[in-house]
Amino acid sequence: MEAAFGIDLGTTNSCIAVIGEDGLPQVIKNLDDEFTTPSVVCYGDDGECYVGVEAKRSMNVEYDRIVAFIKREMSNEKYDRKIDDIEITPVATSALILKKVVDDANEQRRMEGLPEIHKAVVTVPAYFGNMECELTKQAGQIAGLEVLDLLNEPTAAALSYGIKGLEGKTFMIYDLGGGTFDVSIMRMKNGVLDTLATDGDHHLGGIDWDIALLDYLLMSNDLGIAYEDIKKDSGTGHILNQMEICKKNLSKSDKAPYKFKYNRKQITGDISRSVFEELTEDLLERTIDIIHHAQKISREPGVKIDEIILVGGSSYMPMVKKKLQKEFSCPIRLDNLEPDRAVAKGAAIHAANILGSTKSKVKIGTDLASRSYGVRCISPEGKLHVWNIIKRTDDLVYEGKYSGFCTSDDNQTSVIIAIYENISEKDSMDVDKCTLIEEKVLSWGFPVPKGTTVYSFVSRNSDGTVRIWLECQNKKVDFEIKYRGMYSEDEVERMRKDLSGKRV
Ligand code: AMP
Repeated sequence: MEAAFGIDLGTTNSCIAVIGEDGLPQVIKNLDDEFTTPSVVCYGDDGECYVGVEAKRSMNVEYDRIVAFIKREMSNEKYDRKIDDIEITPVATSALILKKVVDDANEQRRMEGLPEIHKAVVTVPAYFGNMECELTKQAGQIAGLEVLDLLNEPTAAALSYGIKGLEGKTFMIYDLGGGTFDVSIMRMKNGVLDTLATDGDHHLGGIDWDIALLDYLLMSNDLGIAYEDIKKDSGTGHILNQMEICKKNLSKSDKAPYKFKYNRKQITGDISRSVFEELTEDLLERTIDIIHHAQKISREPGVKIDEIILVGGSSYMPMVKKKLQKEFSCPIRLDNLEPDRAVAKGAAIHAANILGSTKSKVKIGTDLASRSYGVRCISPEGKLHVWNIIKRTDDLVYEGKYSGFCTSDDNQTSVIIAIYENISEKDSMDVDKCTLIEEKVLSWGFPVPKGTTVYSFVSRNSDGTVRIWLECQNKKVDFEIKYRGMYSEDEVERMRKDLSGKRV
């Protein structure tokens, strides 16, 4: 039977799974004997690239050669970093991470006498827009993969839990990773999984707990500095790694030792879990505020949550479960106590469904847009703004939602229509907080007086294609926005060939 991987390409760690002989998803360990691989790349001065544990380890000596948290930059056109004249791009870096997890998994399979796999489902955050999704797909192709599909991370997490116990329930996926926090409110009804709301903070995750701990230790050891003062220093990555170790130990014990070197001074001691929890309480509080906001903007405003599913490595911290229990008093689940592997397992289930090798009882129903789409217009006060026509809280598939506008000049025969993407659920947004995705002159071909109403329709189908059309005095004109990745097919092929012989 043909097999395919499920890959969680994470902001801090990545994970890969496949359906085993028993029909259940199994996470494949990397060659460092770990279930997850740091999404960290070190561009070495010998021209080699190191990915994962090795790259993370070299943080203390080669900080300026390290690329981490690259997923946050996926569609950042202004991302501009060079290492030894090599232009670092989020897509190529993501391709290296994917190649590493796939090569390691295939190596493990070879040792077990199993055939190599080159097909995969890759997960993406619910908040990724079309461009980021296309770029993720291209990263997969450059890594030599046939990307069968992209799957939302919360949907993947829910799939990994299966239908058992979730049928008829409204549940929340609480995903606290290394650098991002995501929340999705979902419902399973008759085996169909619907998304009611998604929200999150893409700059809130385990790293903030590490920094809070470091700040406290710098202060309590009378060093007279804060993380902010040393964050650009070459040894700081290493110190943060030490904080992470201490934090992880605090998930297991009430007290943990810490040890780091600053300015040739060795700093050691113990910290208790209760102190750690106190000094990071405000970070946890921020996740609660986001959940309340998600409930508010849900398709069923104020929706009640029956159950909570914990996902993401930071959910290992006991304070997370404790806080959620206090706030929501509903059952809380951790996937076999492996919250950092649930997404990859769900992706493996989805991959097997696509290949027809298993049949999951769960069907993916309504998904949300995750992005709002609006047109640029001028307010009566003469201010430029974006008027959102499809909101991010709307369903992904949207049939012809419209808004009416008035022409601003006499004898106008056309308008410049500029479509913007943004993450606000509000009607109106500042232009500079939105991303322009297409700007076109649309002409209806005959002059109309100032103040004539022009209807502007926006629709979106299941593959994310957005169609815009205008209607002026019964004349319709339209255009379609088809998202493509940033690279041409030839460029992807060239990058794939360059990478194929490399060992990372
Ligand atoms: P993820 O991206 O889901 O793999 O999550 C990575 C984050 O989880 C990092 O910030 C880790 O430090 C954190 N993490 C992993 N294991 C633990 C643990 N046992 N206790 C606390 N945090 C953890």
